[in-house]
Amino acid sequence: MTSLASCIFCKIIKGEIPSFKLIETELAYSFLDIGPLAKGHSLIIPKVHAEKLHELPDSSLTDILSIAKKIALALECENYNILQNNGRIAHQEVGHVHFHVIPKPAGSDKEG
Ligand code: 5GP
Ligand code: ZN
Repeated sequence: MTSLASCIFCKIIKGEIPSFKLIETELAYSFLDIGPLAKGHSLIIPKVHAEKLHELPDSSLTDILSIAKKIALALECENYNILQNNGRIAHQEVGHVHFHVIPKPAGSDKEG
């Protein structure tokens, strides 16, 4: 379990770790992923610390999804994935709920 004190995403929200901020609301924060799977890959996180989605108060969800829609519009990308991992076996590396927004540019489904 990740404690609030050691949580890197809580530190990003507080400005203790730098990030490339995209959109911030009262309850949520978004920024570019440090290891992007595609150009413009971003993360949206609640400001309240919760490790997994089922532990997150519903009150954060409206802001998170509203930011996701704004980012999708700004990307001008017809195709994109919203991904959200919970638990180590499910590939969650950072123990603070986060939603990935991953653009899928035209042609990115083809090999080579
Ligand atoms: P997960 O595998 O937990 O769903 O994804 C965690 C994501 O957080 C990864 O895509 C990783 O690149 C990103 N990440 C980890 N540490 C940092 C950081 O300090 N800054 C930023 N901007 N992204 C991070
Ligand atoms: Zn946290």
